[in-house]
Amino acid sequence: MTQGSRVTAGTCWFCGKGRGGGESVAYPFDAQDGGEVRVVVVPRCDACTQVHRKQMLPSAVILVAAAIVPPTLITLLAPVSGGIRTALNAIGMVAGLVVGIVLVSQRERRTAARSGTRPSYDAREHEGYKAVAVDTAGWRPRSVGNLNPDNTSTSPRAETVDDYRYHFRNDAKALAALERGCREAGITQAA
Ligand SMILES: [Zn+2]
Repeated sequence: MTQGSRVTAGTCWFCGKGRGGGESVAYPFDAQDGGEVRVVVVPRCDACTQVHRKQMLPSAVILVAAAIVPPTLITLLAPVSGGIRTALNAIGMVAGLVVGIVLVSQRERRTAARSGTRPSYDAREHEGYKAVAVDTAGWRPRSVGNLNPDNTSTSPRAETVDDYRYHFRNDAKALAALERGCREAGITQAA
């Protein structure tokens, strides 16, 4: 999978057709020795953003259901009690979550493929992201809550270039790193 580095700058990394803008996915990293900030930006077009957004809620519902159903069934049906039931419930919940994650990723991949794109979690296959993410000695990912009042996503975490522009508005260094990431990705300032 090397198409990511071959596409034209600014072209949506997910579908290879649209142009990335403010809804592109941003991954900020802090240097382990403090100081530096760098932001990997994966270009994403509006159409792909819509595909990804539409999947968030059903995916969350499936995950919650997958975690809740096995313990509920065990509690209702299994002829055990006390500590054994608690242990079984815990195992059931973990197993349910694992199955749920598999179901959700398969479902998101099918839905994305129908729209001619790739699921949002594929961004972790992006060359630029992988290059920084594997360098755990040098960089650690920064995850922040989503404070952007204009955000239309259901994600509790900041996700897009626009989210981070808002979050970094009082942090000149991080903002500069974000804009540098955008330039590297071929994304120009959103209109
Ligand atoms: Zn796209």
